[in-house]
Amino acid sequence: MYCRNCGEHMNDNQAICLKCGVKVGEGNQYCPNCGKEVNEKAEVCLNCGVSIKKTETKEGGDLNGHDKIKIALFSFFLGNWGVHNFIMGEKKKGFTKIALFLCCGISIILNIIDLIKILTNSYTYNPDAMF
Ligand SMILES: [Zn+2]
Ligand SMILES: [Zn+2]
Repeated sequence: MYCRNCGEHMNDNQAICLKCGVKVGEGNQYCPNCGKEVNEKAEVCLNCGVSIKKTETKEGGDLNGHDKIKIALFSFFLGNWGVHNFIMGEKKKGFTKIALFLCCGISIILNIIDLIKILTNSYTYNPDAMF
């Protein structure tokens, strides 16, 4: 693996380039596979043929690595209790839903919003959010 910013060789377990201090995957001047200088707009490295397109926006939203269908099903069947939030590690959101369900049932609305976001790939995992 090579630094995409300066082309310095790095170990696979390195998170930050020791030469330029840039995070792994940041930058677009060098191929991460062979370390050769590449055009910053290139989609593949002309030297080794590896795809070097930047993947900035994660497809499918951010469900903290969980499967979209699984989370959607938990949201659909048990979402009023925030079960899908607990699965993803969003404890605060989960407790908010339980509390709102017990007091007045409006967690149903929050859950419908969650479900729509999950299904439209716009849900963003946030362990600090309350709802
Ligand atoms: Zn570097
Ligand atoms: Zn290359």
